[in-house]
Amino acid sequence: MTELLKMAEETHDSQASWERFLRRRQALETEMELEVCDGCDHCGTRCIAGFGVTQQEWEDVSAFLATQPAEELARIAAQEKTIPWPGSEELGVDVTVTYCRFRDRERQQCSVYPARPTICRLFGQTSWLPCPIEAVSRYPEAAASVWNDYREQKRKTWEEWQEEENMRKMSNR
Ligand code: SF4
Ligand code: SF4
Repeated sequence: MTELLKMAEETHDSQASWERFLRRRQALETEMELEVCDGCDHCGTRCIAGFGVTQQEWEDVSAFLATQPAEELARIAAQEKTIPWPGSEELGVDVTVTYCRFRDRERQQCSVYPARPTICRLFGQTSWLPCPIEAVSRYPEAAASVWNDYREQKRKTWEEWQEEENMRKMSNR
């Protein structure tokens, strides 16, 4: 019983900490120059797999995907995400790049944009992840401190969260 109470308290603390972080991130977004990003996909080539997201971000993306048509999900899942590094074939070297599983390569866009995680929201809008086409003219000062808050959250890759979820489902059978 004590263990159960402890676990419930930890979950509550971690949810409260995430909600505090989200409020900070939302405030930061109001200071960003997001209007120049409307309709732009130049950063899309940087959507490389392997970055970490929080459990809440994984759950948000899962909830968003649950609202999408099954054929759309299948279309994106069927796309090859590992391709030769641009220019590598011409040079005769075997180097590949693997894109984020949610990158829609066919339509050149993020397929989970409304639920995209923090790193994707900050990309192009901070001095250390600057806009690759220099279309963003100012970066909010609070970005570094929000990023430091984010780094304190437990993060795993999409694939690791997926594996954890699959294991949980199997153990509940
Ligand atoms: S940060 Fe720059 S490259 Fe990325 S979407 Fe915005 S304007 Fe386009
Ligand atoms: S979640 Fe979307 S914006 Fe973020 S890396 Fe994946 S495809 Fe790109």
